Parts: sequence; structure tokens; C-alpha cells
Amino acid sequence: MLNEVHTAIDAHYDEMVGIRRYLHQHPELSFHEEETAKYIASFYEKLEIPHETNVGGNGVIATLKGGKPGKTIALRADFDALPIQDQKDVPYKSTVPGVMHACGHDGHTATLLVLAKVMQTFQENLKGSIVFVHQHAEEITPGGANSIVQTGKLDHIDAVFGNHLWATTDFGKIETKPGVFMAGTDRFDITIKGQGGHGAYPHETKDAIVIAAELISKLQTIISRNIDPLQTAVITIGQVNAGSSFNVIAGEASIIGTVRYLNKDTQQAVKEKMEQIVYGVCHTNGAEVDYVYSEGYPPVDNHEAETELVFSASEQIDEIDQAVEVAPQMGGEDFAYYLEHKPGAFFFTGAKKAGSEAPHHHPLFDIDERAMPIAAKMLIGAACAYQKRHTS
Ligand code: MN
Repeated sequence: MLNEVHTAIDAHYDEMVGIRRYLHQHPELSFHEEETAKYIASFYEKLEIPHETNVGGNGVIATLKGGKPGKTIALRADFDALPIQDQKDVPYKSTVPGVMHACGHDGHTATLLVLAKVMQTFQENLKGSIVFVHQHAEEITPGGANSIVQTGKLDHIDAVFGNHLWATTDFGKIETKPGVFMAGTDRFDITIKGQGGHGAYPHETKDAIVIAAELISKLQTIISRNIDPLQTAVITIGQVNAGSSFNVIAGEASIIGTVRYLNKDTQQAVKEKMEQIVYGVCHTNGAEVDYVYSEGYPPVDNHEAETELVFSASEQIDEIDQAVEVAPQMGGEDFAYYLEHKPGAFFFTGAKKAGSEAPHHHPLFDIDERAMPIAAKMLIGAACAYQKRHTS
């Protein structure tokens, strides 16, 4: 059946591109994807494929029940966009000022919708069921994945697979790995509360900028001095705000940043040390501090057996030159929550566009659209491989 499915996917390439470009022109921010959700629901409506809307928010879940008994496999695509101004000069450029599909989630959606349409034509011969999970809000914590899982509507599935079109990976290449493939992502917000005053009389103040400087330097020592050199973590301070004038001592300073890690022990070690340093430095300087450490998405921890199935699926697809096991990525993904719930695997489909160097979340971001049918074949290939392994 797989060969016929591949031919059918290729035959729907133009439709896939059409959907992707429509969504690219009409992006919506995380948690505000009402129109995109409606678009997805109406696609299933027309096909008369049973589906549910407002799943855990703007999520849409459709189910294609095959004619033969078998396992239930979920395939996931996210559909939110980013607060970035599209600077590409293409006919399918975003029509919404300041909002752009700069991570390829439009492509994920087009891939999954068309795959559902194609698989409906094979419904009688299909073993088990395929659950098409269209997820809102991947870009902002708490994300859509966890709220979809919490609804219980995926409790009956046996496995889950997810794809990310990856614009910095060559076309024709698949990347993934068993175990932790993407990092856990946390956030911290520090507000130092000193005492402001006249720039000429520092002894009458508690200078929040000097305290912030000390804190920023000291936080750098966590990775170098407190974390096992063989473990991996990142602390990045992305935002510092303080002061109002050249001759005024700032009474308040805020520091915002992210922590990335690959395992819980490292996360806890970073978290504990940060707390000591933040309170220690501020209190030593006689300042108060508001400190919030927010745990975000856990690491994407691919299950070994299902990752094997992803690799085996890649061998059946002509356009794939190589499927390689890569080092873990320090980027994060809320696909992690599905993998905490059920067995599965997440992978990258190379979508680097010729002549484009723009990475994800860049105003010039674009994908090679020919990667979409490859991603569709990978998803259905992994699902069929799972089916084959688990049913006689
Ligand atoms: Mn993404």
C-alpha cells in the first residue's frame, strides 16, 4: 500500500503548496489561532472526516478509522505563528503586519491536512486508526500540547509521531535521535529592588545597576563551575532593563533569561544554584528581589523503539538521501508532553531552501516546499511501521 500512498501524496503536491501559502499569508499568534482552527475544521468538514474542535484551546483533532483492526496512531502538526514582520519578497508573503509563519508551522499543517485527505482514499485497507492532531500555541508556554494531553482525548492512542520542517537542514535529509533530542526550556525573571537617587550621591542609594552587573557576571559561573562538565546546560540572559537618565541612580533593574537543559538533574542543579546566587547577591548588597523561575517545556525524549521506526520509514522514501542520528538540539518543543504521555518520536525533515540562509524565527525565514510531501511520507511511514510491528 505504501507505494500507492506515496504516489497519491505526490499527486496532491500543488494542493499542499496552496494550503501552505494560504496559511503563510494569514498567520495568527499563539493562543489566537481562531481562524486557522476554523480553516482546519472546515477542511475535515468537507471530507466528512469526524473531528473535534476547541480541544484544549484552539486544537483540532480528526480521526480516520481504518477498515481493518489495528493500533491507534496520532500524528501531530502545530499551527501558530510568531510576532515577526515578514520581510520576504514573495507573492505568498504574510498579509498581517508584524505576524509571520517563521517556524514552518504552516507547512506542518498543510502536510497533515493533505495526508489525511490522501489516507481517506485508502481507508478500507487501512489498519487501525490515525488521529490527526492539529495543535495550537507551540511557541509560547504553557503551550497547546500539554492542554491537549490533559483533555484525555489522546488517552486511547498507542503511539505518536511528529515532524518539524527544518530550514537549516539540507533538503533530502532526516534528523533525529533516540533519547533526548531537544532541550527542556525554562525562563527566569529577576527584579532587583534597590534604592534610587542622585548620580552624585551613590552612598545614599542602593544602585540596582551595579547589583545587576554583579549578578549577571556571577550567573555565568554556574555553567562553568557548578555543572558537571559532561552535562549540558545553557543560561542566557536575553533582556536587561534599568535606568532612566545619565545622572540618576537606578532603583530597580530587571533581568530576564532562559535556561536550557537535557536532563532533570541538571535542571535542578541550575535552579538551586541560581536561587542561591540571586538571593545571595541581592541581599549582600542590601537590596530586595522578586525572583520567579518558571519551568517550561520538558526535554523532547524520543522513545527508542519508535525512533527506530522513524529511521526505517526513511528507507522507503526515494527523495531521502540520508537519515542521520544527530546530537541533541538546545531548542525546545512542546511535543515533549506527548512523549511523556505515550510512546513516540519527533524528527526533523530537511527543508533548506536554495539560496536562503535564514534560520527559524527570522524575518526572511522560508522553507523548500518540496519537503512537505517527504514529511507526509515520513509520518505515514512511521505509523505503518508501528502498525506492522504491533499487529500480526
Ligand atoms: Mn516550531
